[in-house]
Parts: sequence; C-alpha cells; structure tokens
Amino acid sequence: MIIAIDGSAAAGKGTLAQKLIKQFGYAYLDTGALYRSVGLKLYEQKLDPTDVKAAQTAALDLKADEMLHLQMNPAIRTEEIGAYASKVSAIPEVRQALFDFQRRFAFHPVNTDGTPAPGAVLDGRDIGTVVCPEAEIKLFLKASPEVRALRRLKELQAKGICAIYDTILSDIKERDERDSKRAVAPLKPASDALVLDTSEMSPDDVFAAVIDFIKGKGLM
Ligand code: C5P
Repeated sequence: MIIAIDGSAAAGKGTLAQKLIKQFGYAYLDTGALYRSVGLKLYEQKLDPTDVKAAQTAALDLKADEMLHLQMNPAIRTEEIGAYASKVSAIPEVRQALFDFQRRFAFHPVNTDGTPAPGAVLDGRDIGTVVCPEAEIKLFLKASPEVRALRRLKELQAKGICAIYDTILSDIKERDERDSKRAVAPLKPASDALVLDTSEMSPDDVFAAVIDFIKGKGLM
C-alpha cells in the first residue's frame, strides 16, 4: 500500500507520517528533504536558487543510495533552506531529476538500513497528484498560516535554533504562495484525497481521522 501525504509547510505531515509508519511498519520518504538538499547545495556554493542549470546539476548529483539518508541531515531544516527548496522546486528540470527516485521508492519501499518494507508513506506537495496518483490512500493536510508558524517556531526552538515568529509567518505565506501558484506540480489536493484542516486538531485527532478513512476504504 502507498500512503501519500501532501499539504502546506508545517501542516502536520511529518508527525502524521511517523504515526502511520509506526502503525503499519512501512518505510518513509520525506520528499521535501530531497528539494531541501538541492537548496542546501546551492546555498553552500553561494548560487542563485532560481539558476536552472545549477539547480538541475545539484539535483542530478544526488545519488540514489544517499537520498534516503538526506532526511537525517539537520542542516536542511532551517527556514532559509526551506525558502531555497521552495525556489528550486519550481524548476521543472529539478522535479524531473527527483521523480524516478520517488516513484521507485513508492513501489519498492526500503527502510534506511536497506531492508524492504511492506508499504510506503511519502510526504510532500505533489505525491497524490503527480508522483503517485495511484496511491491507495491520499491525504491532504492544511492549517492556518498563524497556527503553522507557531508550530514551526516551537519545533525550531526545541532544536535550539533561534527564530522569530513574524519572520516564520511571512516565510510560510511566501512559500505557500510560491508552492500553490507554480506552473509544475502546484500544491493542491488530489480529487480523491481526504482533506483535513489540522488548525484545531491534535496529532492524535488527525491520526484517528486518517485511520477511520483507511478503514472506510476497507484497507484495514
Ligand atoms: O515539506 P518541506 O517544507 O520540507 O518542503 C520544502 C519545500 O520543498 C516546499 O516548500 C516545496 O516548495 C518543496 N517540495 C515540493 N514538492 C514536494 C516536497 C517539497 O515542491 N513533493
């Protein structure tokens, strides 16, 4: 089974993914980490994230066997690299370079230690619409920008990263705008996705709603 989780930044995708992989024993791919890693490469080389050739080269340079480990690199988690990721991800050549790896993972899921898993959880912006339109379960999470900014602030503070609420809020709004207005693979729910507004929901509420949805489809 493939579970696709899409939605805006800090809407609760990662938290839900962790609960689902624990429940089902599936392998997990945080696809945002791929775009963030491309963004980090450009940032480190002081290159413009809208430079098509440089971004495509950085994406093609990512090795399939290291892609799963990129999600563990703390350097990709800053808001600055999130903004770089959002810029490189609007480039079709970058999306194309990362597409095959994501699909291979979805259909042949492996854990970070290389062992095969019985299913896959992928989170991102276009998993249910572009990467895996055939996923059995499609979820789309959203929440108000203010709630998401507060969540991100707490997350960063917990990691000891210094951050300012207003800056995060404006970054989130800017990123939403770019992610949903871009020409390729814009952020939008698949027509058959369960759409949840998590603003007033706890992680357990979200998980319970998703489990009900999976049961309702007869897949549990
Ligand atoms: O989910 P995360 O915040 O880590 O993603 C960083 C950026 O990568 C997003 O703002 C989005 O622009 C891009 N992204 C994407 N498609 C995905 C995952 C992430 O365009 N499947």
